[in-house]
Amino acid sequence: MPRHLFVPEALRGKAYANTSLPIGDGQTISQPLTVAGMLQMLRLTGAERVLEVGTGSGYQAALLARLCEQVFTVERIESLGRQARRVLDSLGIFNVNVRIGDGTMGWSRYQPYDAIVIAAAGPSPPRVLLEQLAPGGRMVMPEGGSQGARIVLVERCENGYTRTSGGQCRFVPLIGKEAWSDESSAANGG
Ligand code: SAH
Repeated sequence: MPRHLFVPEALRGKAYANTSLPIGDGQTISQPLTVAGMLQMLRLTGAERVLEVGTGSGYQAALLARLCEQVFTVERIESLGRQARRVLDSLGIFNVNVRIGDGTMGWSRYQPYDAIVIAAAGPSPPRVLLEQLAPGGRMVMPEGGSQGARIVLVERCENGYTRTSGGQCRFVPLIGKEAWSDESSAANGG
Protein backbone atom coordinates (compact mmCIF):
# COMPACT_ATOMS: atom_id res chain seq x y z
CA MET A 1 0.00 0.00 0.00
CA PRO A 2 1.55 3.37 -1.02
CA ARG A 3 1.47 4.97 2.47
CA HIS A 4 3.07 8.19 1.19
CA LEU A 5 -0.22 9.06 -0.55
CA PHE A 6 -2.00 9.11 2.84
CA VAL A 7 0.31 11.61 4.56
CA PRO A 8 0.79 15.36 3.97
CA GLU A 9 3.26 16.10 1.18
CA ALA A 10 5.84 17.61 3.55
CA LEU A 11 6.03 14.30 5.47
CA ARG A 12 6.32 11.94 2.50
CA GLY A 13 9.97 11.28 3.24
CA LYS A 14 8.91 9.66 6.52
CA ALA A 15 5.98 7.68 5.10
CA TYR A 16 7.77 4.31 5.25
CA ALA A 17 9.13 4.62 8.76
CA ASN A 18 7.36 2.57 11.45
CA THR A 19 5.87 5.60 13.12
CA SER A 20 2.62 7.51 13.38
CA LEU A 21 2.57 10.88 11.58
CA PRO A 22 0.37 14.00 11.87
CA ILE A 23 -2.37 14.27 9.23
CA GLY A 24 -3.95 17.56 10.34
CA ASP A 25 -6.71 18.54 12.81
CA GLY A 26 -4.58 17.12 15.65
CA GLN A 27 -4.99 13.57 14.29
CA THR A 28 -2.45 10.98 13.15
CA ILE A 29 -2.02 8.15 10.68
CA SER A 30 -1.39 5.16 12.96
CA GLN A 31 1.91 3.34 13.33
CA PRO A 32 2.12 0.67 10.55
CA LEU A 33 3.08 -2.27 12.78
CA THR A 34 0.27 -1.45 15.20
CA VAL A 35 -2.19 -1.37 12.30
CA ALA A 36 -0.81 -4.70 11.03
CA GLY A 37 -1.17 -6.27 14.47
CA MET A 38 -4.76 -5.11 14.90
CA LEU A 39 -5.81 -6.23 11.42
CA GLN A 40 -4.16 -9.60 11.97
CA MET A 41 -6.25 -10.07 15.14
CA LEU A 42 -9.42 -9.75 13.02
CA ARG A 43 -8.44 -12.94 11.10
CA LEU A 44 -10.15 -11.80 7.91
CA THR A 45 -10.64 -14.29 5.07
CA GLY A 46 -11.84 -11.92 2.34
CA ALA A 47 -15.59 -12.39 2.66
CA GLU A 48 -16.33 -10.07 5.59
CA ARG A 49 -18.16 -6.83 6.08
CA VAL A 50 -16.01 -4.66 8.34
CA LEU A 51 -16.77 -1.47 10.27
CA GLU A 52 -13.89 0.90 10.98
CA VAL A 53 -14.25 3.76 13.45
CA GLY A 54 -11.80 6.60 12.73
CA THR A 55 -11.10 6.82 8.99
CA GLY A 56 -8.36 9.41 9.49
CA SER A 57 -6.12 9.33 6.43
CA GLY A 58 -7.90 6.30 4.97
CA TYR A 59 -4.75 4.17 5.10
CA GLN A 60 -6.13 1.41 7.32
CA ALA A 61 -9.40 1.45 5.34
CA ALA A 62 -7.37 0.89 2.15
CA LEU A 63 -5.66 -2.12 3.74
CA LEU A 64 -9.02 -3.46 4.93
CA ALA A 65 -10.37 -3.06 1.39
CA ARG A 66 -7.87 -5.69 0.28
CA LEU A 67 -8.53 -8.03 3.20
CA CYS A 68 -12.34 -8.20 3.20
CA GLU A 69 -15.33 -7.65 0.95
CA GLN A 70 -16.87 -4.36 2.10
CA VAL A 71 -15.52 -1.67 4.41
CA PHE A 72 -17.74 0.81 6.22
CA THR A 73 -15.73 3.56 7.86
CA VAL A 74 -16.86 6.50 10.00
CA GLU A 75 -14.85 9.68 10.68
CA ARG A 76 -15.97 12.52 12.94
CA ILE A 77 -13.86 15.23 11.25
CA GLU A 78 -15.33 16.09 7.87
CA SER A 79 -12.15 17.42 6.21
CA LEU A 80 -10.30 14.17 7.01
CA GLY A 81 -13.14 12.01 5.72
CA ARG A 82 -13.27 13.95 2.46
CA GLN A 83 -9.50 13.79 1.95
CA ALA A 84 -9.51 10.04 2.66
CA ARG A 85 -12.26 9.56 0.06
CA ARG A 86 -10.17 11.44 -2.53
CA VAL A 87 -7.09 9.26 -1.93
CA LEU A 88 -9.15 6.04 -2.00
CA ASP A 89 -10.75 7.14 -5.29
CA SER A 90 -7.34 7.95 -6.78
CA LEU A 91 -6.25 4.40 -5.95
CA GLY A 92 -9.40 2.90 -7.49
CA ILE A 93 -10.56 1.53 -4.14
CA PHE A 94 -14.34 1.44 -4.33
CA ASN A 95 -15.36 -1.13 -1.70
CA VAL A 96 -14.86 1.42 1.08
CA ASN A 97 -17.86 3.47 2.19
CA VAL A 98 -16.97 6.64 4.12
CA ARG A 99 -19.42 8.44 6.40
CA ILE A 100 -18.97 11.54 8.55
CA GLY A 101 -20.34 11.16 12.07
CA ASP A 102 -19.81 9.70 15.52
CA GLY A 103 -18.53 6.17 14.96
CA THR A 104 -19.27 5.15 18.55
CA MET A 105 -22.89 5.02 17.37
CA GLY A 106 -21.86 2.52 14.69
CA TRP A 107 -23.49 2.45 11.26
CA SER A 108 -26.77 0.68 11.86
CA ARG A 109 -27.83 0.48 8.23
CA TYR A 110 -25.22 -2.13 7.30
CA GLN A 111 -25.00 -4.10 10.55
CA PRO A 112 -24.20 -6.70 11.68
CA TYR A 113 -20.46 -6.54 11.01
CA ASP A 114 -18.19 -9.58 10.93
CA ALA A 115 -15.41 -7.43 12.31
CA ILE A 116 -15.07 -3.97 13.85
CA VAL A 117 -11.83 -2.06 14.29
CA ILE A 118 -11.56 1.16 16.27
CA ALA A 119 -8.58 3.36 15.39
CA ALA A 120 -8.73 5.65 18.44
CA ALA A 121 -8.38 5.01 22.19
CA GLY A 122 -11.60 4.78 24.20
CA PRO A 123 -12.46 3.99 27.84
CA SER A 124 -14.21 0.70 27.00
CA PRO A 125 -15.83 -1.12 24.07
CA PRO A 126 -18.78 1.07 22.99
CA ARG A 127 -22.08 -0.68 23.77
CA VAL A 128 -23.69 0.12 20.41
CA LEU A 129 -20.74 -1.39 18.54
CA LEU A 130 -20.94 -4.61 20.57
CA GLU A 131 -24.57 -4.83 19.49
CA GLN A 132 -23.68 -4.31 15.83
CA LEU A 133 -21.14 -7.15 15.91
CA ALA A 134 -22.32 -10.37 14.22
CA PRO A 135 -22.35 -13.65 16.19
CA GLY A 136 -18.82 -15.04 15.87
CA GLY A 137 -17.59 -11.54 15.06
CA ARG A 138 -14.44 -9.89 16.38
CA MET A 139 -13.78 -6.34 17.52
CA VAL A 140 -10.36 -4.81 18.14
CA MET A 141 -9.74 -1.48 19.85
CA PRO A 142 -7.17 0.42 21.90
CA GLU A 143 -8.62 0.68 25.41
CA GLY A 144 -7.38 3.68 27.34
CA GLY A 145 -6.83 7.39 26.87
CA SER A 146 -4.48 9.63 24.94
CA GLN A 147 -1.68 9.00 27.49
CA GLY A 148 -1.60 5.29 26.81
CA ALA A 149 -3.76 2.33 25.88
CA ARG A 150 -3.82 -1.43 25.51
CA ILE A 151 -5.12 -3.40 22.53
CA VAL A 152 -8.27 -5.35 23.38
CA LEU A 153 -9.94 -8.08 21.34
CA VAL A 154 -13.64 -8.74 21.97
CA GLU A 155 -15.31 -11.77 20.40
CA ARG A 156 -19.04 -12.28 20.23
CA CYS A 157 -19.95 -15.89 20.99
CA GLU A 158 -23.25 -17.73 21.46
CA ASN A 159 -23.78 -16.66 25.03
CA GLY A 160 -22.05 -13.32 25.23
CA TYR A 161 -18.64 -11.79 24.70
CA THR A 162 -15.10 -12.82 25.54
CA ARG A 163 -12.24 -10.40 25.85
CA THR A 164 -8.47 -10.75 25.46
CA SER A 165 -5.93 -8.05 26.24
CA GLY A 166 -2.98 -7.41 23.97
CA GLY A 167 0.02 -5.12 24.00
CA GLN A 168 0.41 -1.48 24.92
CA CYS A 169 -0.04 1.23 22.33
CA ARG A 170 -0.64 4.92 21.86
CA PHE A 171 -3.57 6.38 19.96
CA VAL A 172 -5.43 9.66 19.58
CA PRO A 173 -8.61 9.66 21.70
CA LEU A 174 -11.95 8.23 20.65
CA ILE A 175 -14.31 11.16 21.14
CA GLY A 176 -18.03 10.54 21.05
CA LYS A 177 -21.23 9.67 22.81
CA GLU A 178 -20.01 6.19 23.88
CA ALA A 179 -16.42 7.27 24.55
CA TRP A 180 -14.49 10.28 25.89
CA SER A 181 -16.42 13.55 25.82
CA ASP A 182 -13.37 15.64 24.84
CA GLU A 183 -9.56 15.72 24.63
CA SER A 184 -9.00 16.64 28.28
CA SER A 185 -11.16 13.84 29.68
CA ALA A 186 -9.27 11.45 27.39
CA ALA A 187 -5.98 12.73 28.81
CA ASN A 188 -7.13 12.50 32.44
CA GLY A 189 -8.99 9.21 32.16
CA GLY A 190 -12.46 10.62 32.60
N1 SAH B 1 -7.34 4.62 10.62
C1 SAH B 1 -6.70 5.93 10.57
C2 SAH B 1 -6.26 6.37 11.94
C3 SAH B 1 -6.62 7.80 12.19
S1 SAH B 1 -6.43 8.34 13.85
C4 SAH B 1 -5.57 5.93 9.56
O1 SAH B 1 -5.23 4.86 9.04
O2 SAH B 1 -5.05 6.99 9.23
C5 SAH B 1 -8.05 8.10 14.50
C6 SAH B 1 -9.18 8.89 13.86
O3 SAH B 1 -10.34 8.63 14.64
C7 SAH B 1 -9.01 10.40 13.82
O4 SAH B 1 -9.10 10.84 12.50
C8 SAH B 1 -10.19 10.92 14.65
O5 SAH B 1 -10.76 12.11 14.15
C9 SAH B 1 -11.17 9.76 14.55
N2 SAH B 1 -12.18 9.67 15.60
C10 SAH B 1 -12.06 9.88 16.94
N3 SAH B 1 -13.23 9.67 17.55
C11 SAH B 1 -14.13 9.30 16.59
C12 SAH B 1 -15.52 8.95 16.59
N4 SAH B 1 -16.25 8.93 17.70
N5 SAH B 1 -16.09 8.64 15.41
C13 SAH B 1 -15.39 8.66 14.26
N6 SAH B 1 -14.08 9.00 14.19
C14 SAH B 1 -13.46 9.31 15.34
